[in-house]
Amino acid sequence: MTETADKASYIKGLAWLLLGTGVAVVLAFGIAPFVRAVPFGWERSLAQVIQPVPPADVCAGTFQQRALLKKLMGRLYPLDKNDSRFSFDVHILNSAQVNAFAELGGEIFIDKGLLQKARSPEEVAGVLAHEMSHVSRRHILEGFLVRVMTFQGLQLIFGPSVSNAQWAALFMNMGFTRSQEAEADRGALERLQKAHIDNRGFEAFFERMARSGSMPEFLSDHPSNESRLEMIKEFPNGYTRPVMSDEEWKVFKAYCR
Ligand SMILES: [Zn+2]
Repeated sequence: MTETADKASYIKGLAWLLLGTGVAVVLAFGIAPFVRAVPFGWERSLAQVIQPVPPADVCAGTFQQRALLKKLMGRLYPLDKNDSRFSFDVHILNSAQVNAFAELGGEIFIDKGLLQKARSPEEVAGVLAHEMSHVSRRHILEGFLVRVMTFQGLQLIFGPSVSNAQWAALFMNMGFTRSQEAEADRGALERLQKAHIDNRGFEAFFERMARSGSMPEFLSDHPSNESRLEMIKEFPNGYTRPVMSDEEWKVFKAYCR
């Protein structure tokens, strides 16, 4: 064998060894620690390529409603140094469903149906804080990568031309695991406490939805009410400030109507 061939087979062997080690490490530790190391800027770039929700569904809102949404977000973000690693864009969707979800790159969507069901701005703040935690704990990117690695995902990437609708279908109803939901609840309670927002809104909304028997899909994998109540005890309300006045809440609630 020549020296060059020797070298080539050595490099090939090394590549296989590295690949094998990589797979073993991911299997042992899960994908989460690696996903958390991905810079958020990359996730944002990816989000610009893949946009599951057509902008036509997003409500423009009035000048005052947009200002109130900004005010609400201003209370929740940024709260600490870690927050500066992320950014968020919140949109209200023209949909009667009681739903909220986060997409890649910190894009958060709240259905107008959820606003109409909410009884206080603190309830909306609780839902928002929960979705923000899914983003900052990189659950969205993790779910995305797992989906892409499925057969259906690989087929789309390596298959012939792929329509936008096919892409969108791949990322619809991207559910979270129960432990991710518990993590997002914990993150939400931490955020509400730091923001001096009364967490009884968070508690009330989730409890009411559970009791109504028509649990929205985005809440279906959430921890039971008992374990949520236990968790809430770990984050007692200190001094709290209202998110908006009663007058402002009336205006905000009518977003998209
Ligand atoms: Zn969730």
